[in-house]
Amino acid sequence: MQKQDILNKMAILNEQLKRWAVEYYEQDAPKATDSEYDKTYHELVELETEYPDLISPDSITQQVGGDVSAEFSKVEHRVPMLSLSNAFNKDDLVAFDKRIKKLTNLPINYMVELKIDGLAINLRYENGQFVQGATRGNGIVGEDITHNLKTVKSIPMKLSHPLSVEIRGECYMPKKSFIALNEERDIQGENVFANPRNAAAGSLRQLDSKITAKRNLSTFIYTVATPELFRATTQSGALDELDELGLKTNHERQLCETIEEVWDYIEAFRDRRHLLDYEIDGIVVKVNDFRAQEEIGYTVKAPKWAIAYKFPAEEAETVIRDIEWTVGRTGVVTPTAIMNPVRLAGTTVSRASLHNTDLIEKKDIRLLDHVMIHKAGDIIPEVTRVLFDKRHAESQPYQILTRCPVCYSELEKIESEVALRCMNPMCPAQIKEGLNHFVSRNAMNIDGLGPRLLEQMYDLSLIKNVADLYYLTYDQLLTLDKVKDKSANNLLSAISSSKENSLERLLFGLGIQHVGAKAAKLISEHFLSIEAIMNASKDEISSIDSIGPVIADSIEKYFEKDEAKEIINELRSAGINLRYLGQTSEDVQSIDSPFKGKTIVLTGKLVDYNRNDAKEKIESLGGKVTGSVSKKTDIVVAGEDAGSKLEKAHSLGVLVWNEKQMISAIENSSKVE
Ligand code: NAD
Repeated sequence: MQKQDILNKMAILNEQLKRWAVEYYEQDAPKATDSEYDKTYHELVELETEYPDLISPDSITQQVGGDVSAEFSKVEHRVPMLSLSNAFNKDDLVAFDKRIKKLTNLPINYMVELKIDGLAINLRYENGQFVQGATRGNGIVGEDITHNLKTVKSIPMKLSHPLSVEIRGECYMPKKSFIALNEERDIQGENVFANPRNAAAGSLRQLDSKITAKRNLSTFIYTVATPELFRATTQSGALDELDELGLKTNHERQLCETIEEVWDYIEAFRDRRHLLDYEIDGIVVKVNDFRAQEEIGYTVKAPKWAIAYKFPAEEAETVIRDIEWTVGRTGVVTPTAIMNPVRLAGTTVSRASLHNTDLIEKKDIRLLDHVMIHKAGDIIPEVTRVLFDKRHAESQPYQILTRCPVCYSELEKIESEVALRCMNPMCPAQIKEGLNHFVSRNAMNIDGLGPRLLEQMYDLSLIKNVADLYYLTYDQLLTLDKVKDKSANNLLSAISSSKENSLERLLFGLGIQHVGAKAAKLISEHFLSIEAIMNASKDEISSIDSIGPVIADSIEKYFEKDEAKEIINELRSAGINLRYLGQTSEDVQSIDSPFKGKTIVLTGKLVDYNRNDAKEKIESLGGKVTGSVSKKTDIVVAGEDAGSKLEKAHSLGVLVWNEKQMISAIENSSKVE
């Protein structure tokens, strides 16, 4: 190749990679897959290795991460935050081992850790107090996200020793939280996140920390930026010290004596990684001894003493057979790709949500297209890209629906939303989904009433809205498929017991847009009756702590409608309880109990109490029961075989009770009551 051709090729690769990097690091919305990015990056590295004289100083291979957003204050890192070199197979690791042994004569062993797929963070503690947190940014300057990191429960605000240190780790979103968040965004007609990494990055780079707080982020700490302030002289020792300080490290780590052992560890995680509740994208191999690390040194971009083995992307090729449209409870119309069944990351996949019409248009997905699919969050199948070179010549762009597939009313695209909506409140699909929601566990919790039965009831005109459920008769139930004497009686009794539910279940069950179970509880607790809620103004509703104007507006609009008033009247006539039956803050005021106003964590096995009963009892006595120990925890109740939560309680100096002490506190409180 001529010199100019090589320069041109390098420029094209750089331009492409930089565009992807902006989408990934700065917009938290990648257009390319990681393996596409890595492949193109590798191509550039190979060219640059062959022609080192032609490397441009602003090549992406000489830079870390992305630019820093102007929306955040900048933080200059005291020690640069670097990237990691990559290995894609065993040969790359063997070559790494050889390089290391040429660069130092010190004995070498490796600390092997999971490569958590999240966002790198730097945490600064002064005299043991958390003072600042930042993103990696471009490695030299990061974004100040202290306010957001303060909402992440796994980050202690105070270390167990008054050290002044900078530590680093990965902030991530657990798979479960990622799936729940995307489901919620789908329902609300918002763009979904491509993967947990982007969801974590998007959640941390928020101006409003209330949003971050809701996203259930967590962290694993893996490095000290200032090892000289630590006693440890090795990575394994440093990780143990981080544990002692009350920081959360990942305990899947392993010390390996040889690169063969490292490979065995990698092989073991190839399948095991799908069982973890967080996503990993590889395994990081680090020279364990700090003195050897210093001898081996750094490139401009990464330490030479570490390497990240990247798992091959789990993708599969298949063909789109059809696109199916479903109408949700709020009228959002969602497309699903129906594909030829194919094995992917341990299961057979034949359906993938396409989320919204924008995505079909952006990716130009058409019927009979060959596509690559992957699993977002390791669970949810998604179409990654179309294989355009396999497209049929006569293929036509997919015609997006203009009418509701169920009621045929015109679909609307609401500005600021990516979703198409069916605006007909009488659309049978919306009503059926609404019925399913009404009987669900967190709403009226009516046992035995599943989607199949509800659909039949609706189709046979036995019910047209949620109130009608309470007017069903034994004879009507017997007309349903597979319903006999016993099941009909069971259904009637389950429906009847739900009449006693406290108001918040009904309010949530009505399926008012934006009103989740938690909001329904807060609102019911405040207004105490459905009448008071129906008469409340928007301002009165949004004056409740944690209830914003969007929820308030939605409630006001819902109860303005005659159909809503009619449903409430029918429910009232059927004898449904319309009052809040839980404790109000005034009730809690009158309780005299050591749990009142305290945050309690239950851990280990309780002998005399079942965990849920204990939780309910403590909450009825004014306490709040949470899942993880932090400096905000007042009491940890440790049952038998309590593990890490008990250790953490000790390290944070939190009061620890055994089960007997808890029982005696409950009994004493009850007596006063
Ligand atoms: P990297 O993600 O490959 O590795 C470095 C990072 O690993 C560190 O910054 C740290 O955050 C993380 N890490 C996780 N666990 C760790 C542990 N135990 N010890 C040390 N570090 C750990 O490198 P990078 O520079 O952050 O990003 C490059 C990668 O990002 C690419 O390989 C690609 O996969 C992805 N990327 C994708 C796109 C895209 O468009 N899809 C664009 C840019 C980058």
